[in-house]
Amino acid sequence: MMSDYRIKGETGEWEVVIGLEVHAQITTNAKLFSGAATAFGAEPNTQVSLVDAAMPGMLPVPNRECIRQAVRTGMAIEAQINRWSRFDRKNYFYADLPQGYQISQLYHPLVGEGSLTIAADEKAGIPADKAIGVERIHVEQDAGKLMHDQHPTMSYVDLNRSGVALMEIVSRPDMRSPAEAGAYVRKLRSILRYVGSCDGNMEEGSMRADVNVSVRKPGDEFGTRTETKNVNSVRFVMAVIEGEAKRQVALIESGGTVVQETRLYDPDRNETRSMRSKEDAHDYRYFPDPDLLPLELDDAFLEECRDSLPELPDAKRARYLAAGISAYNADVLTAEVEAARWFDALLEAGAKPAAAANWVTSELFGALNRMGRDISDSPVSPEHAAELLGLVADGTISGTIAKQVFEKMLESGDAASVIVERDGLKQTSDTGAIEAEIAKILTANADKVEQYKGGKEALFGFFVGQTMKAMQGKANPQVVNELLKKALG
Ligand code: ADP
Ligand code: MG
Repeated sequence: MMSDYRIKGETGEWEVVIGLEVHAQITTNAKLFSGAATAFGAEPNTQVSLVDAAMPGMLPVPNRECIRQAVRTGMAIEAQINRWSRFDRKNYFYADLPQGYQISQLYHPLVGEGSLTIAADEKAGIPADKAIGVERIHVEQDAGKLMHDQHPTMSYVDLNRSGVALMEIVSRPDMRSPAEAGAYVRKLRSILRYVGSCDGNMEEGSMRADVNVSVRKPGDEFGTRTETKNVNSVRFVMAVIEGEAKRQVALIESGGTVVQETRLYDPDRNETRSMRSKEDAHDYRYFPDPDLLPLELDDAFLEECRDSLPELPDAKRARYLAAGISAYNADVLTAEVEAARWFDALLEAGAKPAAAANWVTSELFGALNRMGRDISDSPVSPEHAAELLGLVADGTISGTIAKQVFEKMLESGDAASVIVERDGLKQTSDTGAIEAEIAKILTANADKVEQYKGGKEALFGFFVGQTMKAMQGKANPQVVNELLKKALG
């Protein structure tokens, strides 16, 4: 089934066509062709080697780890890995590019055709799971950064990013709505983070998207596209598509034509503006970089890449569903790799999957949210959480008491069993004690007992609630139910 997202124009409905080029910074501590460091937020020009500054006579040396991470990423989207690939020079002049060319891969990229599946999301207008084609992943250098706000009449250049390794992940023009594009970026980010090839931090610029948009009448050929550069959040990607599609429709309907151009997004005004007409590949005078040998990958290298891949989000989600976890919880638990790892540790410690998933997505996430903490520094360990859930599962404490115990675990760091023992929170099935409370409650609420007997069965919950309250939440709910039924006849 296709997305039914449409832009309504004066001449009818328009379909939107989207392709994304995502630049993802490879997680390594050295640059693509030099040993300089890559830490975020360092003082300007403190992470620049002679290679990155393009000193004459310096030779690039490929960083094996960067190649390895790009290959592992390709494998994670089941893409073709090219055993033979090559670097090309993309020539252009700009003050942030001291070499006068960017080393990239045009003709023979490291990774070929692959794909990634976005999950059905009725609310977002994605009626079924959809595979989005990935055309290629190539490896290239980042440029430096110009700083225009440091001096009234001069600009400065920071070369810390110069030579940093990027993967460019190029999708097919397979997306048809802002929601699909948003889901694609989120899924790609999730996979990169599972693989460990990119930290996915969009605010810090480790991942940014060039957003290609065109419009057409359904059934027509593709229209001319524009490309909006360096969009750095999922929300902005979606906003760019919506705004750009509307702009193109209005333009065409008023008699104009869309020109192939590069545009820039201004988040403050939520609009794009033209930056320059789009170059074609031949404008860059690409040619094979004579300083670098072609890359040739052997079996052992490929095998190591494959063996080092973790379980990926789709496989993990399928495993959770098979274990009886709801689709919603499986989605929530697999989206972020840290949460998935924590949850797997909880299962390994013996927790029952479905109940554990409910507990993590409600109680644990709720508490972490309140505390403003990430799951990776949760004050409660998976082992301690498993013990708490075990006490509920075997009837030692009730669900209500478990919430109190959890609060105390968060405060003290103590184990659940220690807290339960110390504070006398064990659930009781002592029928004598429960029956005594029930008798008191029924006497005190004689009118309600009458109504109940007269057919107002919804009152049963009231009696349960009163009994649990009298027992300070410690009565076994099943026993309470049985005894109440008996007492009420
Ligand atoms: P270039 O080499 O100029 O960058 P590509 O053919 O590599 O062009 O495409 C770049 C991106 O643009 C890809 O992500 C692709 O899916 C997307 N794209 C291509 N044609 C269209 C189109 N008509 N509408 C929207 N996106 C498109
Ligand atoms: Mg391109």
